[in-house]
Amino acid sequence: MSNKVSVLSKDGKKLFITIDKNECIGAASCMVISPNTFGIDDESKAYIVSDSVDDLEHIIESAKSCPTGAITIKDEDGNILWPGT
Ligand code: SF4
Repeated sequence: MSNKVSVLSKDGKKLFITIDKNECIGAASCMVISPNTFGIDDESKAYIVSDSVDDLEHIIESAKSCPTGAITIKDEDGNILWPGT
């Protein structure tokens, strides 16, 4: 379990995902949308499943769905994909 890992999305994009566990309230919407990318641990905090097979669109949707903005996603060039500008 990690709160900062790189994953390969279903569409072959390398992503760097960070979860701020201090912000996570265990709402689980991230996991519902991308169950292969996000899980919920014993302390009701999200973690990242490192061998992701969800597609980029769903992973971004997961980040957007987070009520506390706890998820940050960057591409392999360091561009921030979420939160949006
Ligand atoms: S949606 Fe946000 S608050 Fe909810 S479990 Fe995922 S990271 Fe945590």
